[in-house]
Amino acid sequence: MGTKLSISGRTSIYGLVGYPIKHSLSPAMHNAAFSYIGIDGVYLCFEVKESKDVKVVISGLKASGVMGLNITVPYKEVVMKFLDEVTVVAKRIGAVNTVFRRNNKFIGTNTDAEGFIRSLRDDCRFVPKGKGILIIGAGGAGKAVGFAVADALAKVVFIADRTYAKAKKVSQRIRSECKVSVFAVKMTELENIAKDVNLVVNATGVGRDEMDKPVVDLGIFSRETLVYDLIYNPKMPVLLREARKRKMPYSNGLGMLLWQGAVAFKHWTKADPPIEVMKRAIMRAIR
Ligand code: NAP
Repeated sequence: MGTKLSISGRTSIYGLVGYPIKHSLSPAMHNAAFSYIGIDGVYLCFEVKESKDVKVVISGLKASGVMGLNITVPYKEVVMKFLDEVTVVAKRIGAVNTVFRRNNKFIGTNTDAEGFIRSLRDDCRFVPKGKGILIIGAGGAGKAVGFAVADALAKVVFIADRTYAKAKKVSQRIRSECKVSVFAVKMTELENIAKDVNLVVNATGVGRDEMDKPVVDLGIFSRETLVYDLIYNPKMPVLLREARKRKMPYSNGLGMLLWQGAVAFKHWTKADPPIEVMKRAIMRAIR
């Protein structure tokens, strides 16, 4: 336990593919985990600037024996066609954030949905079953969160996006696969559904810039409504500062980051991820 990372010819290689990724917290999290449980592995960043290079990067990493990958923006969708197999979970969401090697195949899956549910449970003591949930942002992350809460038997899921057609498409897709009520809502009509909402999720990325305005006026919801922002850097984006002012419960996306990484780690190594060690590594790296 607590072995120092030492690299040799036998070291297994894992890593992150995306752009930009120089400030990613994943290397700190996974290298701390390898080191703590004594796995001879290393996690690196493979920055790929152009989409046209993803195919050759993936086949090169596979040919050179890389054991596992995370895939991040903007390649979570495009990578799917360069993998040998894609799990049902990733197919439904339409995005891969984790690749693991089995029988010499590169298999893509998605751990964002499970990561979100684990974070809700562990960080917020919130169980989606029977609850009303509003997701703002119908991109890759919003879709993963939508499937996650629908699978967890939410009573009703509302999806809003500044591009209403996108919210409609994602709602239809989730509704057709899960036996849960899912509705698209216009950003201008959120007030009409606010009383049915127990959890608001910001999956837009609005708030990454310190100068951003809150994506929604929290005054329309009850004080008990949980506000979850998928953003983790800054740790207190504007929506969460608003929630704190209004004394509403809130969480940033650090827990989701941690848990999606923990689930990926398990896929790669089959070992139980050392959650506390990974969490401490993220907190140190984000300072
Ligand atoms: P994305 O694919 O770009 O999706 C963002 C969506 O939000 C788009 O549909 C966008 O609409 C919509 N949107 C943007 N501004 C809006 C506004 N003012 N009002 C309403 N809708 C708006 O991004 P993503 O990959 O889903 O990621 C979203 C956020 O989640 C990012 O901040 C990312 O870092 C975070 N994330 C965190 C974790 C974690 O582990 N914590 C995991 C995944 C993602 P348009 O198409 O019209 O632009």
